[in-house]
Amino acid sequence: MRFLVQCPKCKQTMQYEMRGGDIQTKIKRCVYCGRFFKVHSNINKTRIVKRV
Ligand SMILES: [Zn+2]
Repeated sequence: MRFLVQCPKCKQTMQYEMRGGDIQTKIKRCVYCGRFFKVHSNINKTRIVKRV
């Protein structure tokens, strides 16, 4: 499963590949600014822009 996610700090979007587990607990490191952020699937807090 692959998603397009947006960094909450620099607003850049990047691909995130999920390799099993629970999406709620996933943490992604921004490839642009280095910030770690939770991916979430909650509609209000999600960083997912779309599924790719
Ligand atoms: Zn960033």
